[in-house]
Amino acid sequence: MPEGDAVWLTARRLHQALAGRVLTRSDFRVPRYATTDLTSQLVTEAVSRGKHLLVRTAGGVTVHTHLRMDGSWRVRPARDRVANSHRIRLILANTDWQAVGYQLGVVDVLPTASEHTVVGYLGPDLLGPDWDPAEAERRLRADPARPVGEALLDQRNLAGIGNVYKAELLFLRGVSPWRPVGEVTDLTALVGLAQRLLEANKERFGMVTTGVARRGAETWVYGRAGRPCRRCGTLVRSADQGRSTEERITYWCPRCQS
Ligand SMILES: [Zn+2]
Repeated sequence: MPEGDAVWLTARRLHQALAGRVLTRSDFRVPRYATTDLTSQLVTEAVSRGKHLLVRTAGGVTVHTHLRMDGSWRVRPARDRVANSHRIRLILANTDWQAVGYQLGVVDVLPTASEHTVVGYLGPDLLGPDWDPAEAERRLRADPARPVGEALLDQRNLAGIGNVYKAELLFLRGVSPWRPVGEVTDLTALVGLAQRLLEANKERFGMVTTGVARRGAETWVYGRAGRPCRRCGTLVRSADQGRSTEERITYWCPRCQS
């Protein structure tokens, strides 16, 4: 599941390939937009908002996509032949580059002026130019009884954290995912660390929170249920948490986190 940093990097790649160039091809393979044609539109920019991607044109059109669980965008030179696949949802291309979206969880075309209808609910974007930690903290505190592990995943509070960063962040701060937000003593530090983790990882795909990029060594607790905690040796636990069907499993060390 891509988190905010991977989406940020995807946006940058789309921006490099598409911005400042005129689309010579737009191929929507979702029924709702089967007849939509953005050919001859000038792309002005591609940006991320939390885990959402927005490609904007000079004509005031925004293509909104979300990777959800398995989606990806791949950018290739225009001359490359892309194998046809039922997983392709959208192709945007110009004379130099083609961007191919696979298994996108969301594909929307809307007026740029209406972007708020799809991303307006998001809390402050951890990697956005308008990142506002105080506002993120205020939103988190608004529901003090909610378990912090759930609250961090709620994109209305702050945008960009997924299941991996949630688990890692809470481990690094020694906070149990089950602790109510109102009882987290240093929420400012938690929010600050969330931003630094995403910032530190945004230039590469793959998430590393331990500082060790070797396969199997990247995380402290995420994906390590039943294995010894790297810090104290206690077995890492896992359990379902929250309402989301996509990101329910949380991981924590019962000794290091309280
Ligand atoms: Zn431990």
